[in-house]
Amino acid sequence: MIPLVKSFMPDQSRLMPELQKILYSGYIAQGAQVEKFEQAFEEFVGSGHSLTVNSGTAALHIALILAGVEENDEVISTALTAEPTNIAIKMLRAKIRYADVDYNTGCVDPDSIEICINEKTKAIVVVDYAGIPVNVKQIQLLSEKYDIPVIHDAAHSLGSKFNGENVGTHFPYTAFSFQAIKQMTTVDGGILQIKNTEEYQRGKLLRWFGIDKSIDRLENNIDSLGFKYHMNNVNATIGLVQLETIESITKKSVDNGRYYDDALMGNPDVDLIKYYENSEPAFWLYTMKVENRTDFIEAMAAKGISASQLHKRNDLHSFLNDFKDDLPSLDIFYEKMVHIPCGWWVSEEDRSVITDAIQCGW
Ligand SMILES: *Cc1c(COP(=O)(O)O)cnc(C)c1O
Repeated sequence: MIPLVKSFMPDQSRLMPELQKILYSGYIAQGAQVEKFEQAFEEFVGSGHSLTVNSGTAALHIALILAGVEENDEVISTALTAEPTNIAIKMLRAKIRYADVDYNTGCVDPDSIEICINEKTKAIVVVDYAGIPVNVKQIQLLSEKYDIPVIHDAAHSLGSKFNGENVGTHFPYTAFSFQAIKQMTTVDGGILQIKNTEEYQRGKLLRWFGIDKSIDRLENNIDSLGFKYHMNNVNATIGLVQLETIESITKKSVDNGRYYDDALMGNPDVDLIKYYENSEPAFWLYTMKVENRTDFIEAMAAKGISASQLHKRNDLHSFLNDFKDDLPSLDIFYEKMVHIPCGWWVSEEDRSVITDAIQCGW
């Protein structure tokens, strides 16, 4: 089977000596390697501060705190995402207000966000679902108009761009995940990219028990809650080596995505995603809409291709459905959406096998 997702590890000859060095160095906790990884990631993104953490969920949690979200506040979000996006909101006992998606992209619809805004709204969380950039421009305008901060969940979109600028540069907070199946993995881990320097300093306290690592431990005074969210030197070492090849890895997804776009254009049985102007998708997965999805998935499986929906819409979880609003565009999108493999492991031969299988019908 050509899998839908797969963990990438750099060449053993490159990674293992580095890992061995750090594992037996006597210092595996958060230290110099973590700082090196943060610097390298900052350079990769091109602006802001990189705060490493031990998961993408932790990055979202810290972002929501920095954005000022508290118990019973409302956070506008999307139901078409992996659960951690919305679990993070519930970690603060805030309420999730779902905006509908744009049927063309599966990403949140800015017009629907605007309808959801009320006096309790403290933040907006947007997700580049499957690696397709959200409508950055419109969302930035809304954020300015209502003075509500935006948290960008970029767990699927490392390598994407909007207006020629890397993901991580568009909003005050961007959360990246380095969980096992993301474009880049540190086994588990994440980064919160933060624009504001003071907030970044506060983020460091939130990351590690509220203790300021730059001051002697005995001189510290914890004055607010912090968590055990830091990254260690071992995960950071994997991250540093992964960063060396990240551009070629994400380029493979993009090439495959573009190939599918060209090959499937004109097939009346597939409804392709339409991207926003000036956006460059990362294609973590390749998403399209089809009729008779169950038959489609079976036909692909018969030819050795895994195709699936992957995520359950989050409003179907009772714990994640505070307001039970109707989401009519998501209803149709969710009925037809399916992902096919698109990542670095999909070879040129694989992708033509996949498009041939689709052209044969189901
Ligand atoms: C993977 C993922 C996360 C969280 O990442 P972890 O590192 O597993 O905590 C958040 N949002 C989305 C959309 C994800 O896919």
